[in-house]
Amino acid sequence: MKEIFRIAVDGPSGAGKSTIAKAVAAKLGIDYIDTGAMYRAVGYKLKQTGTAPEQNEKLKAVLDSTDIDFVKGDIILDGEVVNDKIRTSEMSQLASACSGIAEVREKLVEIQRRMGMRKSVIMDGRDIGTNVLKDAEYKFYLTASAEERAERRHKELLQKGENISFEEVLRDIKQRDHNDMTRKLNPLTKADDAVEIDSTGLTIDEVTQLILDKVKQQG
Ligand code: C5P
Repeated sequence: MKEIFRIAVDGPSGAGKSTIAKAVAAKLGIDYIDTGAMYRAVGYKLKQTGTAPEQNEKLKAVLDSTDIDFVKGDIILDGEVVNDKIRTSEMSQLASACSGIAEVREKLVEIQRRMGMRKSVIMDGRDIGTNVLKDAEYKFYLTASAEERAERRHKELLQKGENISFEEVLRDIKQRDHNDMTRKLNPLTKADDAVEIDSTGLTIDEVTQLILDKVKQQG
């Protein structure tokens, strides 16, 4: 294994990427970078500042003054920990909407590439293996049926106290799949050299182990 290596994990919403990437990071003693959280943080900032995507000049100014970082697993937006604020269904939709804006992608991809140069990381998202870290040493594409993904997300949101039906979550997941797969800029697709894992019916531990085994096997 190289001294510095990158693991890219892509896939649709709710496929378990972040939970699994976090577990792999802990096992390998490397950093985990949740790029979805970065799009959510930008969505949050745009809402806080009342910025619409079509307000070009304002959008640029807001992005220029936006600072996003991860410290010990927390996502920090302009010095504030925003972990919980960005994990609502409203922020999911805002993140998905702003992920199609060229200026937003440009800014976040640049930060992500810088993060991937400094040390070994596992980074999850939609365009990591195909764009952000094209030359990552290890690439995975994680999927699961839309129903299973919606079930997992629904449980999570209920636990957080959101009053939302399974049907609404399923509709949101399908809408986000559609947005992510059909957007012009870096749409979600499997990189040719990524290993595909369908996690339907598998536990978090089983998928984590599959990834660890592949990494070990590949060396
Ligand atoms: O992964 P998560 O659900 O937190 O991502 C929120 C949204 O951010 C996604 O629906 C997707 O539209 C966008 N995203 C993206 N590119 C990434 C990561 C997330 O466009 N690398």
